[in-house]
Amino acid sequence: MSESPAESTQDIKNDTPTQTPLEIEIEIVSEEEMALIDAALATATRCSQLSSSSAISATSCFPSSQLLQRNVRSIQSITLLAKRRLSGICGPDEPDIEDSGHFAMTQKRNRVAKSFLERFRKNRALSVTDIRGTEWCEKQMEFMLLFGKPRANKAMKVGHARHVKLEEEVITKVKVPVQSFEDRWAVKFINSINGANQLLSEGLTRELPLFGFIEGVWMVGVIDEIQMPVKETDRNPMIVDVKTRVQETLPTESQRRNGRLQLMCYKYMWDNLAAGNFPSRQFFDFFSLNPYHVLSEEVRENTAKAGYPAKTLDDIVRFYMNAWNMLPPAHNQLLLRYEFQKDQSLLGEVEFIYDHDWMKSRIQGCLEFWKGEREASYIPDEERWKCKYCQFASVCPAIGKPESSRSPSKTNSDSIPS
Ligand code: SF4
Repeated sequence: MSESPAESTQDIKNDTPTQTPLEIEIEIVSEEEMALIDAALATATRCSQLSSSSAISATSCFPSSQLLQRNVRSIQSITLLAKRRLSGICGPDEPDIEDSGHFAMTQKRNRVAKSFLERFRKNRALSVTDIRGTEWCEKQMEFMLLFGKPRANKAMKVGHARHVKLEEEVITKVKVPVQSFEDRWAVKFINSINGANQLLSEGLTRELPLFGFIEGVWMVGVIDEIQMPVKETDRNPMIVDVKTRVQETLPTESQRRNGRLQLMCYKYMWDNLAAGNFPSRQFFDFFSLNPYHVLSEEVRENTAKAGYPAKTLDDIVRFYMNAWNMLPPAHNQLLLRYEFQKDQSLLGEVEFIYDHDWMKSRIQGCLEFWKGEREASYIPDEERWKCKYCQFASVCPAIGKPESSRSPSKTNSDSIPS
């Protein structure tokens, strides 16, 4: 199917009905961002060494098209159906972020009271990527909201390509036209349902989109990989995230902590959905969707082929909630897998246990920033190396000040779970 330019579409992670094309920003984007961080860290590590000796898949999308992932084989069984996924269409990056000129004007008008959540995620979900970025450095997140994200470098592009390849190993895409926000969301939900079915029938799925309501905000995320346990006595699926690395080393603690937070967010969202916590009325209200809007013929045909005969978005949401009700909670053990970009060899796997209290306090801390309850914090002194490789360093008030005088500050490394 292809998406109609007449309607704004929405973003899997950042859904904003605007006058511009919607995008589905999925975790691959965050991988790109983290690749940048990896690259910066790699350089930082090198410099440090020198100094101490001396210091429905991520697809760029356009309003005229939309991708439906479809199994290459005929759709005759749940196994095959599970491989079909409607994935989103990304337009250019959000104009409200990229268009700094626009910001310059609107910032003055809106200076008074609007929080970042209201300004940049209105009618749009916060993403796990947003949480990760905020945890990395709130001030940097603030700059990115105001002035735009860094452009993709080579390492980001390589990381992106690797994730696309991994996704294509289990899913094939086809285009699907959409004509409304409701169509767009129907496509997203079907992708999530198909991923859940694929997990149950085949024991593995990749690039699984999640939409949920946690800590009072709508949140979206895309999980790299979920595996059903091998042991029959264990029934909880394991969440896995793949990180590609420029350097042939495992990342620093601050990067691992950021990755742990990401996976714990996924588990939190997963368990909420599996427990049936999806307030559908609030969902329709928040995203300004009409639950009874009749979906386009193309969307209805494709969702029916996928095994979900639906007339409206409300029908699709019911299928979504039912699909998640079939799933058990995610495993308490989570896995970060690190690959060397050069040859895709395994650098190492880091397993860790879900720490609900730690994760929740981190999310709440991030939300204080997003809700405007306090100003952006700077990174703690022990992670100040990040500033040397931050593209906003030239305008950041933290630079040039003695470490102890930087305020406000936070201690990211506090209470880090193992
Ligand atoms: S210079 Fe440092 S404190 Fe300022 S935004 Fe960049 S990383 Fe954050």
